[in-house]
Amino acid sequence: MTQILDGKATSLAIEAELTEAVNARLERGLKRPHLAAVLVGENPASRAYVGHKVKACARVGFESTLVEKPETISQEELLQVVRDLNANADIDGFIVQLPLPDHIDDQVVLEAVHPAKDVDGFHPVNAGKMALDLPCFLPATPMGIMSLLHRAGIDTQGKHAVILGRSSIVGTPMALLLRRNGAPGNCTVTVCHSRTKDLAEHTRRADILVAAIGRAHFVTADMVKEGAVVIDVGINRIPDASRKSGARLTGDVDYEAVAPKCSWITPVPGGVGPMTIASLMQNTLQACTNAEA
Ligand code: NDP
Repeated sequence: MTQILDGKATSLAIEAELTEAVNARLERGLKRPHLAAVLVGENPASRAYVGHKVKACARVGFESTLVEKPETISQEELLQVVRDLNANADIDGFIVQLPLPDHIDDQVVLEAVHPAKDVDGFHPVNAGKMALDLPCFLPATPMGIMSLLHRAGIDTQGKHAVILGRSSIVGTPMALLLRRNGAPGNCTVTVCHSRTKDLAEHTRRADILVAAIGRAHFVTADMVKEGAVVIDVGINRIPDASRKSGARLTGDVDYEAVAPKCSWITPVPGGVGPMTIASLMQNTLQACTNAEA
């Protein structure tokens, strides 16, 4: 029987734990964790993502600051924003919402974020520590997927995990975390990308299949092994005349056809998305406590 990996419910459980931790801090006279988000330009998806993060802060009792800058901001001006946030002792962690406008080099900006405040886990120092299994901030999406597997009690030991996508924010860190010596972890991992030959041959061998490519309904039922755990990271906007907005969000997996074959599957929405935000909140609390140590 297929079971739903409910990211919404799991994220609410994590938020309840965070709220409790904040209340305990306040009782001890400690500050509220404080997350800042930098939003450049008017990209509606970016605005929506940042909005979700700010709302999550309010739900768990964190302070939040939204720094909005116009599309025309220069790279140097944006770097100054980052330096100011690095120097601001009240801000425990911050994120720079991607993508940035074309005239700005994302990597230069991400590398300007102090690793101790890099709650997105995108700085090379944190990425390198993750690869070496050292304590660090993990990128929120793969971290959320690991929590989801853990809290659902899914045994990953010795399983074959196949990851579709090798981006530095999802596919690559997901592969590193699943192959770690730990629980969840200890998977044998295959990473597929746009040059992979006979992709379905790989996916059909997956005990755990993580789809993170950004193509609606790309993973079809014939690509999935009976009993697989399927994690759908994709967020794709597709036309839907029955909706007022004329569109709806869907994942990289053809959910209706694939779900009956799975032991577990994440829905979209309500799967990986809320777990990503909950993980960012966990990293922010961690940054706050690290700063006090
Ligand atoms: P990227 O565009 O950075 O990476 C996509 C990856 O998929 C690349 O490695 C690419 O290969 C690979 N790919 C593309 N087409 C194919 C194909 N036909 N066959 C095999 N591999 C392919 O995307 P992200 O990793 O940033 O995001 C992936 C998806 O996850 C998107 O839909 C995004 O919106 C969503 N997302 C969701 C989050 C959440 O919280 N739920 C958070 C972050 C992302 P190559 O490297 O060769 O180009």
